[in-house]
Amino acid sequence: MFNQFRSQKNRPMHLGRFPLENATRQQDTDLQNVPPFVPLSFVDRDRPQSLVNAMREHQAMMDAIRDGTVNGLVSETPDDLEERSNHLKSFGYFCGASMASTGKLPSEAILTRPYLNEGIAELAQVLRTRQSKSLAPGHDLLMAELRESMEAPPGSIDTHTHAIVYLFEHPRTPDPDEPGADWIMGAEDHRSALLASEAAVVVATYLRQLGHSARAHTASSADIDLNKLAVATGLAAVVDGQVSAPFIGSRFGMAAVTTSYPVGTDLPLVAAKLPKSKAMLYAKRRFKDGAHPFEKIKRVDAPTTYIDEGNVARLPKRSDMLIRAAFGDLGKPLQQKWKGGYATMKSPTSPAQRRPLSAFALLQNGPVAECQIPYTPQEAHDHVKAATYFLSVDGVGVSRCPDWAYYSHNAAGEEVIPSHDQAISMVIDQGFDTMEGASGDDWISVAQSMRGYLRFALLGGVIAHQIRNVGYPAKAHTMVEGEVIQPPLLLLSGLGEVSRIGEVILNPYLGPRLKSGVVTTELPMSHDKPIDFGLQKFCDSCKKCARECPSGAITAGPKLMHNGYEIWKSDSQKCATYRVSNLGGGMCGRCMKTCPWNLEGVLADAAWRWTAMKVPGTAPALAKLDDMLDRGQINPVKKWWWDLEVQEDGAFRPTKHPVNERALQKDLDLKYEDQTLAVVTPALAPPPHPFPSPLNREDGIEAYQAMVTAEVYKERMARGDT
Ligand code: SF4
Repeated sequence: MFNQFRSQKNRPMHLGRFPLENATRQQDTDLQNVPPFVPLSFVDRDRPQSLVNAMREHQAMMDAIRDGTVNGLVSETPDDLEERSNHLKSFGYFCGASMASTGKLPSEAILTRPYLNEGIAELAQVLRTRQSKSLAPGHDLLMAELRESMEAPPGSIDTHTHAIVYLFEHPRTPDPDEPGADWIMGAEDHRSALLASEAAVVVATYLRQLGHSARAHTASSADIDLNKLAVATGLAAVVDGQVSAPFIGSRFGMAAVTTSYPVGTDLPLVAAKLPKSKAMLYAKRRFKDGAHPFEKIKRVDAPTTYIDEGNVARLPKRSDMLIRAAFGDLGKPLQQKWKGGYATMKSPTSPAQRRPLSAFALLQNGPVAECQIPYTPQEAHDHVKAATYFLSVDGVGVSRCPDWAYYSHNAAGEEVIPSHDQAISMVIDQGFDTMEGASGDDWISVAQSMRGYLRFALLGGVIAHQIRNVGYPAKAHTMVEGEVIQPPLLLLSGLGEVSRIGEVILNPYLGPRLKSGVVTTELPMSHDKPIDFGLQKFCDSCKKCARECPSGAITAGPKLMHNGYEIWKSDSQKCATYRVSNLGGGMCGRCMKTCPWNLEGVLADAAWRWTAMKVPGTAPALAKLDDMLDRGQINPVKKWWWDLEVQEDGAFRPTKHPVNERALQKDLDLKYEDQTLAVVTPALAPPPHPFPSPLNREDGIEAYQAMVTAEVYKERMARGDT
């Protein structure tokens, strides 16, 4: 998230960012003196504009699904307890935790009177009135299960013997005078508890899928005392009567998982030797400016790639290539492979993320508060950005939301009426460390995408709720259910430029290693401008993603005009076909892995980025240097996940397929002339209805060959010849 001085490339994932391994530990500790954990109520009645109120529904949703069905078959996982601990800690770090610990569940930590989020009952009422239009695989099933689980009382945790604790550090306390502070003042505890809940709910779901009983315990619903558990498992100690963590002090939020799955044990910390606190998140930056120095990027009046706004055709959601695969448009064999979303659900990590992601789809929209708080456009802009960054989103941009950015029809085939004219675009980092250990198309690939989708569904959902709470309509558009096409909105809001990868917008600080989401609203806001950081020249010289793409879907040729956009048009059919039929992993993001802009964020990277942005002529040399430095290879130190694949009986076992462990293809000289690419133009798009509409590849190839550059397109427009 922030520039760090030293690279962590040699540091295994399970050790985390803080050197907890250097803390002084002891064999045992007395839990008698640990102050009891005080549950949080996600409501601030005195301040309706407080962000705490906007978190209420999402927190209640996580509390509602903190337990659930356990897979009847126990999966095959390593026996070694330390390996299990390392794995589950790493999973937490992948979810964004600052620190993690594992250990036995001490009986003193079990509450005689568990506490339960009072918002769950309200939520059950809300769910009776809301429906989701998602066509995502398994969505209906999840919804039914969710409703059921909200009505079932939580059972006992008698069989739970072990626990995993996740701690999320607070950012600094907002300064009452800084722009946007009004919404976020006093919300640090809730913000970190919300993030910790997400991690614990995902990991608890994961363990249940592997066949082990597991329940998440949060700041608002728990059967255990989080303070006692943190002290018992060596994540915190009592200093001056306060529960404090090494390097962080007492400013953090927590959540835990208790389980019947035995894991290794971290020893308790020695309070007197607790390492001192380090700099806090946002110590030197205003929240509204974000963690990355976006103010250093050149702003321009229009995106660096041409958009012929008057001639962008609105397409149905049904034209998304993965949806087409599900309907059999790409052939029966692929439809069979995609059945039930198999490609995204075959490893146990991603379905664990899908459950809350699907649940949040029901909270994307909702009623608007009657009392509208007036804001100037600048105030509204500052409040939205400060709150979004405060919640830990990695990049935020505000723009208009033109009608052409809306799909013509939703996934159910119903016409979409563009409703909101303002857009808040957000980008979420998929995580450098995990990408380092991955090939981009192995068994963690889906989970990397889901991490971004889930985080936006949670935080974008909270921001949309916040805007409704202050009296303006707002809706979060998530991967599960969205009505806007996101790349052009990212361009307009200055979150990146068009890259050779195609529909992926590349951000100067995250590279292509991101997932996006958009909140649309009627709240009038000042807008950010598009950015120019020299990427068009860079991608012109660098063709690494095209060279490394396993399906050959990325063009090595020029940018061309497609449906009013100037873009390096990739072959979506090839891309989708590979992702769905990939046997050596789940889905694919190899382009993100191998791009030279997939940077760690260390100081040395800042110098590289500065050169790439300020001296565009160095792009060919920098692209070559990237290869020479072997960047984009797999770093085995960072591999933390297990290569498990679901079997016919429903259990997860080590995959029988050779795992994709690709090396760079430095000797491959990919030529555009040798590629055969196809495109689906608006004329070739399927009708909006959810029925099969076979794709004709020959027509698509012909259409690709008919595309022209922006220059030729503009000349034709000038002649009235389109
Ligand atoms: Fe652009 Fe090279 Fe990254 Fe592809 S790999 S997006 S060509 S910089």
